[in-house]
Amino acid sequence: MNINVFAQEYLRAAVRKPSQFLQARPARLCTICGYEGRFLDVGPRPEARCPNCSSKERDRIMGLYLRANRLNLTDKAVLHFSPERPFFRLWKDNPRYVAGDVKISKVANAVVDITNIQFEDDHFDYVICHHILEHVPDDAQGMRECFRVLKPGGTAFFSVPLDQSRAETWEPPADMPAAEIERICGWDHVRLYGRDFPDKLAAVGFDVDEIRFSTEDGDRSRLTEKHAFEPQGLDRLFVCRK
Ligand SMILES: [Zn+2]
Repeated sequence: MNINVFAQEYLRAAVRKPSQFLQARPARLCTICGYEGRFLDVGPRPEARCPNCSSKERDRIMGLYLRANRLNLTDKAVLHFSPERPFFRLWKDNPRYVAGDVKISKVANAVVDITNIQFEDDHFDYVICHHILEHVPDDAQGMRECFRVLKPGGTAFFSVPLDQSRAETWEPPADMPAAEIERICGWDHVRLYGRDFPDKLAAVGFDVDEIRFSTEDGDRSRLTEKHAFEPQGLDRLFVCRK
């Protein structure tokens, strides 16, 4: 057990939403750290966070895939956009791990613009890009750059908030007010992806696999995130090869 993280997470949960501890909760399994026990609420999302490694729903989807495929990224060349905290903790001491964000932070060791990546072609074994592209105005350029810096045979992971009821991605008209875009797409998002998202990845050259998780895994490890536009929150992981 990671006592420091555990204490921090319980303290935060107790301050922000003490009422959650009055409710009985079943034991959940974290796909990243292996913790089994009570998960903690985050805002309106019940049992969203693992108290042992701070993982959220979308982190555990990635964790489940890595675990199921016995992938160990610890010593690989990895470009990770806006890293999820539990993975940053696991990988930060690897000199070939680039934790990129728009600015240096506690969980970022490099400034990287996804539409203009400062690394040469065929540099990384893995590129990890979860819930980034919905914030990027030129998302096609972001996808092209991820493809370019990935080694042939390398793997890129993508996920976005995806509205399964929509066949095509919706891009707001140029004159739509920002507040209206935010109401429709969610905070700081610039479009609403539909079922054509994997086609966009394929269009830049990736071989795309769409990974779905079972309801049983989803429930056991709390993998489902509720989105404003989609109460059922069906997250998908897209595994892309070059
Ligand atoms: Zn965990």
